[in-house]
Amino acid sequence: TVVIEFKNLSLTYPNGLEALKNINLVVEEGEFVVVVGLSGAGKSTLIRSINRMTNPTSGQLIVDGEDVTFLKDNKLRSLRTKVGMIFQDYNLVKRLSVLRNVMAGRLGHTGTLKSLLGIFPQEDLKLAMDNLDRVGIKDKAYVRADQLSGGQQQRVSIARVVTQQPKVILADEPVASLDPPTSHKVMKDLRRISKEDNLTTIVNLHFIDMAMEYADRIIGMRDGEVVFDGPVSQVTKET
Ligand code: ADP
Ligand code: ADP
Repeated sequence: TVVIEFKNLSLTYPNGLEALKNINLVVEEGEFVVVVGLSGAGKSTLIRSINRMTNPTSGQLIVDGEDVTFLKDNKLRSLRTKVGMIFQDYNLVKRLSVLRNVMAGRLGHTGTLKSLLGIFPQEDLKLAMDNLDRVGIKDKAYVRADQLSGGQQQRVSIARVVTQQPKVILADEPVASLDPPTSHKVMKDLRRISKEDNLTTIVNLHFIDMAMEYADRIIGMRDGEVVFDGPVSQVTKET
């Protein structure tokens, strides 16, 4: 099943910079795709168009059968429930417990008022604890998020995004703030969980070596264009 499709998608920022030029891509359900390219190539703009944190200029972007290219307002919220995101700097609420941060993954499902009041169904709580267990930090559930190491915080954000039960996970440079050994551990967890839950996952990474170790498929970008798209086995040094 096709989950994401870019059809001649272009994006020009208000200052005139053409960050995406005529992108055509099809991503199938369950694929673990890594996007590589130099800083400024358009990786971030590309994946952020999928949950519409960036606004395409022309072309079409289909997510889970729906044209989301110019989606607005309340419809964006349901898109972002379906398309979860992991950031370089974790984006946790520092003063809240790890568990509360993971429960934030349920916001799109529970409704804002109830969740503001701290009312979550019991099964959501169980789901959150189970997902913390899956990334090996269940014992940190009641610790304040900012007491954790970077690697642990990124695991919290993985637990949060899977607790959201999305169809798609976007990860924008998820290991760029971590040291190499920690980066590998986080990438392993992300890939394992993505495969276990059959989540379509798109990850931006700086380093081709890391990309080749974890990706099913690699997309190479340069100056707003896709210059390579294929399985890891087709990547050669020149690309
Ligand atoms: P990457 O993720 O590969 O580093 P980005 O998608 O962040 O690339 O950026 C692509 C290009 O778009 C860069 O030249 C960047 O400076 C520019 N850019 C990114 N965000 C904006 C913005 N909000 N306004 C104008 N230009 C931007
Ligand atoms: P990243 O590549 O992780 O997005 P950047 O440092 O490139 O980090 O961008 C940080 C923020 O600044 C982003 O919100 C991006 O959209 C914005 N930005 C990047 N380049 C430009 C630019 N040339 N003009 C305006 N905003 C930009």
